[in-house]
Amino acid sequence: MSRFGLYVDKELKPLYSFLMEIRDRYAPSPTGLQHIGGLRTALFNYLFAKSRNGKFILRLEDTDRTRFDEAYVDNLYASFEWLGFRWDEGPDIGGPSAPYIQSERLEIYKKYARDLVESGHAYYCFCSAERLDTLRREREAAHSSEAGYDRHCRAVDAQEAASRAAGEPHTIRLRIPLGEKTGLDDALLGKVEWKNDDVSPDPVLLKSDGFPTYHLANVVDDHLMGITHVLRAQEWVSSTPLHIIMYRAFGWTPPVFCHLPMVMGQDGKKLSKRHGATSIDEFRKNGFLPEALVNYVALLGASYEEGKEIYTLDELCARFSLEKLNKAPAVFDYKKLEWYNAHYIRVKTDAALAALALPYAVRSGLFGVPGRDPGAEQLALFKAVMPLVKERAVFLGDIPAKLTYLFSEPPVPDASEFIPKKSSLEEARRLLAIGRTLAPQMAETGDEDAERLAKETAQREGVKLGDLLMPLRVAITGSRVSPPLFGSIRLLGAASSLARIDRALESL
Ligand code: GLU
Ligand code: ZN
Repeated sequence: MSRFGLYVDKELKPLYSFLMEIRDRYAPSPTGLQHIGGLRTALFNYLFAKSRNGKFILRLEDTDRTRFDEAYVDNLYASFEWLGFRWDEGPDIGGPSAPYIQSERLEIYKKYARDLVESGHAYYCFCSAERLDTLRREREAAHSSEAGYDRHCRAVDAQEAASRAAGEPHTIRLRIPLGEKTGLDDALLGKVEWKNDDVSPDPVLLKSDGFPTYHLANVVDDHLMGITHVLRAQEWVSSTPLHIIMYRAFGWTPPVFCHLPMVMGQDGKKLSKRHGATSIDEFRKNGFLPEALVNYVALLGASYEEGKEIYTLDELCARFSLEKLNKAPAVFDYKKLEWYNAHYIRVKTDAALAALALPYAVRSGLFGVPGRDPGAEQLALFKAVMPLVKERAVFLGDIPAKLTYLFSEPPVPDASEFIPKKSSLEEARRLLAIGRTLAPQMAETGDEDAERLAKETAQREGVKLGDLLMPLRVAITGSRVSPPLFGSIRLLGAASSLARIDRALESL
């Protein structure tokens, strides 16, 4: 039987599963900043839903009120706004299964917890926190391997329990069927089986304050929201038998589970702060582009096309499938992410890149003092210089430092900086003087003409092209390594270029 109660012929199954409306979700608990792990889960759910024309849902699992902070909700929205992919239903945009915030659904969970008590699949527990605490301490002292609840209230007569529950504080616990097994057929991990006796002993579903635990709210919502597939981090596998037991207790068909491989640092340990940035916010502030992060994270634990590394979001949507996921843990490689970032910086238009890099430039003081906005002229120059830095910038934040020499005259370096290898100060002076005669023409032509002019001159003078241009580069940019020289001269214009060269000549 399918989840819609229709008999599905074996041969038709692939077709049927293709026609079935996919609904999946990202269900974060706002108890921390959004990080790489969360992005990977959200992105894979998004890609899976889109690859099958389905719906991707955002649900806030905010029932852990001790660790909840509104700031984390803001961070969630801001992070995904920046990342640029959206859910089809969620707290901010609504949808047919609203509300999508668990703290607004408390009555629903209470009802379903009571239903389970009525059907005998759950029971009231009257144990006080003190009793449970004493139990834990006694076991510790006795070095007992037993953990969790001792099923003390499981045997209380149902009628008696119901009347006590009217007046006494209580929780509701799941009655795990003992002596049985629970199996999972995970889309990635395959078949896994647990002995029910080993599953967490009769966990709490509804707390004494009326709040559900994660397990209850998660299962009830996945069912009521029509979730067909649950793609989540592998750390949740151990909770899955519990969830499957609950689906059975309710008489519901469980969704397809797919537990995603862990994300590790390069040392094989779970990715954490030790390895570098992990929160989306940090990546953004460090000058990463969302396209780079999304493209790279989409490949964490999945392979699409042999040899193809650059994918737009649409291309990923078209290619994603559960068969393309890898079982092995994914290794987060910061260098590879930087490679992606450099790529996405390179393919930006000048105007787009200038707009993205502008805040970094303002902050760094490129336009005078830190924090000062550029005037119209500086802004035009900033946009015009983008081709000079595009090829080599790895982060948006790299860009301003590379351009300082264009916005303010750099100090003239020490004379030794002007001297080409195996050459003399005198020769450097001569070469720079030759360079001075070329600069006005270079300022008016494109790269190719400027290069031809320089080559011809070098040949005529019997010097290497590199040696001819080196003192000129140092005079113009203040450094031996700089963005392209011809472009710099062109952007500075003949007059400024000559002024810089003259200053250098005076100092030599
Ligand atoms: N709220 C859980 C979390 O924070 C959701 C786990 C799940 O996807 O079932 O990850
Ligand atoms: Zn109890």
